[in-house]
Amino acid sequence: MSDSTERLIIIGSGPAAHTAAIYAGRAELKPLLFEGFMAAGVAAGGQLTTTTDVENYPGFADGIGGPELMDRMRQQSLNYGCSIKTETIASVALAQRPFVVTTEGGSEYRAQALIIATGATARRLGLDGEETYWQRGMSACAVCDGALPIFRNQPLVVIGGGDSACEEAGFLTKFGSSVTMLVRRDELRASKTMQKRVFDNAKIEIRWNTNAVEVLGDDKAMNAVRIKNNKTGEEETLEAKGLFYAIGHLPNTDFLAGQLMTDETGYVITEGKSTETSVAGVFAAGDVQDKRYRQAVTAAGSGCMAALEAEEFLNT
Ligand code: FAD
Ligand code: NDP
Repeated sequence: MSDSTERLIIIGSGPAAHTAAIYAGRAELKPLLFEGFMAAGVAAGGQLTTTTDVENYPGFADGIGGPELMDRMRQQSLNYGCSIKTETIASVALAQRPFVVTTEGGSEYRAQALIIATGATARRLGLDGEETYWQRGMSACAVCDGALPIFRNQPLVVIGGGDSACEEAGFLTKFGSSVTMLVRRDELRASKTMQKRVFDNAKIEIRWNTNAVEVLGDDKAMNAVRIKNNKTGEEETLEAKGLFYAIGHLPNTDFLAGQLMTDETGYVITEGKSTETSVAGVFAAGDVQDKRYRQAVTAAGSGCMAALEAEEFLNT
């Protein structure tokens, strides 16, 4: 174990972690950030390293590449005195003071305060053709990718029946010629209000009791989805230039091993409008505690809140 105790350790490397690092660095807390080594299956920098252009992050009128945006955030963290280690945190001990975090390599670090910003991972189905057409028509974020030119006036498909699927189907009707929702049961999980919006939208068709089986295309871009009615067994090929998964996310919280209060799916529970968790001195920001908005700008906003709250905690 290192002899010194850090004032603040930040775990994660997306917009939440780096915004927290920038604020904490400027507050002279000298934060130590663990960015992960292929943590949660992605390179350091988080989910945006897996996308092309980000067009809705304020300040970049012509959009900016996801990896470049994250490189810039990382550099800004370094500029303000944050130290970064490319290691994944395997476990934390939160029942003791100072807190102890342990890397996958077995090194231990102590901290007076912690910010958890480890994000979430979109669930995937592993359909035949998914590897070939991922980001070539297939996406797990309609709000992020739906406005791209390849989807304009084209038939689009959304999989899922929750609030996200309904919200994203509605969003996609602004761009596509039609939107078909594939729902695996004969009812939606979404709230009644959200359901009504879908039922009232003439551009949305719902295929009940239906699963996707395969994604088809010409190797460069997808152009159809093979679907199957799980009651009748009947199969059909739907023309589609876009296929959006909206089947839920999994928060990257395994390393917490139940030491913080989480909801039934593992999202860290934060107190009211703050980033405070069930353990005083531990704060959570970004997608790891937000199953609803899941945007870079909201993650950054909560990263800022976490740093300000950590600073206040350390000063009292
Ligand atoms: P994440 O970006 O999820 O990053 C957290 C990272 O922390 C992990 O990825 C990993 O690298 C690291 N980590 C995880 N566990 C550990 C650990 N144990 N130890 C150390 N490090 C760890 N949002 C937009 O606003 N606009 C867009 O255009 C947009 N496009 C998107 C495109 C795609 C393909 C995807 C998947 C998402 C997109 N999003 C977009 C959503 C956006 O990326 C997320 O909302 C945002 O990145 C969440 O930020 P975060 O800081 O919470 O964490
Ligand atoms: P949910 O877990 O609520 O819904 C996931 C949906 O995907 C369900 O309809 C589920 O089907 C379906 N699904 C899951 N796995 C598969 C699979 N393998 N094949 C086909 N379909 C599958 O996730 P959401 O992202 O929709 O919502 C997460 C949370 O965020 C919820 O609490 C939601 O209320 C909230 N939210 C709120 C919003 C709002 O209020 N505006 C907007 C977005 C999210 P099944 O129903 O059969 O399990």
